[in-house]
Amino acid sequence: MMHASRQRWIPLGVALVMTAASALPALAAPRKDEALWKAAEAARPEQLKLLETLVNIDSGTGDIEGGTRVLDILAPRLEALGARVERVPAEIPGLPDNLVATLKGKGKAKILMIGHIDTVFEPGTAAKWPYSATGDRATGPGVGDEKGGVIQAVVALEILTARGFRNYDTLTLLLETSEERGSPGTRALIDRLVKSHEVELNLEPGDAPDKITVWRKGSSTFNIDVKGRPAHAGVAPQEGRNAATELVHQLATVDTLPKSGDGLTANLTIIQAGSRYNIIPENARAQVNVRVRDKADLERVQATLEESARNTRVPDTKVTVSRENSFPPLPENPHTEALAARAKAIYAELGRELGTGGNGGASESALAHEAGTPALDGLGPVGGNFHTDKEWIDLTTITPRTYLLMRMIQDVAARPPKTFRPAG
Ligand SMILES: [Zn+2]
Repeated sequence: MMHASRQRWIPLGVALVMTAASALPALAAPRKDEALWKAAEAARPEQLKLLETLVNIDSGTGDIEGGTRVLDILAPRLEALGARVERVPAEIPGLPDNLVATLKGKGKAKILMIGHIDTVFEPGTAAKWPYSATGDRATGPGVGDEKGGVIQAVVALEILTARGFRNYDTLTLLLETSEERGSPGTRALIDRLVKSHEVELNLEPGDAPDKITVWRKGSSTFNIDVKGRPAHAGVAPQEGRNAATELVHQLATVDTLPKSGDGLTANLTIIQAGSRYNIIPENARAQVNVRVRDKADLERVQATLEESARNTRVPDTKVTVSRENSFPPLPENPHTEALAARAKAIYAELGRELGTGGNGGASESALAHEAGTPALDGLGPVGGNFHTDKEWIDLTTITPRTYLLMRMIQDVAARPPKTFRPAG
């Protein structure tokens, strides 16, 4: 017992809790893996050098020479780790091979990381807008989407392997080359890999201020094609049936759909009509990029556009609506949420708070989820203004995100999440 005169009586219950709490410091304070952190810090200068090298290589989707050069730089580093490195031909013509690096370990988990090395930028962009770093920001074509994340994965594998981490059955890195066009060159490969692994970690960039991605919209492109009749624009314009004018009419319907926000969005992205200034246009086409959280919204958009197509204003024109699905949505779901909670706990080891969120950008994670493989996205460095010449990343997130990825791999290796394969 404690001294009376100076003693204060503490209720028994409170005393018990305090004793228990003092006995549980480990649980209360997530402990940082100092050695792993130091290794990530040590890797940083070279990591940034490699990022500069890869960003300064144009690898827009379909740039076979550029894409192959990027993979030729990364392949030997992965081979040096003992990975089996395969160059898997793309599933459609006009694309560089994909790369699959597979490490075999002594554990039981099957872990898949997916990244893409293609960007949305045209050949010649890197020469005009090379990688540059000012203060805490780096800019350049694809610096965030997605070369920062791809390099982070390679460095993470190098550090983990150097530290003797083998607690997995299979640790696979897919570097694909057509994500920015909906992965038409990688669908069968992605399908095979997500079905043969228990978890997918995606290297898309994180959203500011410091978030990972737990939902994504699906992406589809609607084509509105108008068939009219050509005529001499001077001599006999009345003989023509102007496809461009009709398309403008159809676009009035598109204009009624939401253009921004967390739900359905429909944005006109490409419009083509006419061949010569002195000919009434026979053909016209518009492409509308539609993003949805709920697939049913795609049917609603289809019905709206088809209804409009039946009500043409220019006589004798014919309007057809078609659709190309890129990626399905990654819906908010308990499997991704559970992985996100593990990531938050890991980030807390660094004394950092990890946010979660979603966005209209689509990715392969939705395909993993559809196959019943728990998926987590947005694990790459934080950045913004993707798909523009203002694209940037926050350099202060490079090492924390590399640490996060390594620890996530260790964490899911020790406790693989349950898959939820769809019936049939
Ligand atoms: Zn991307």
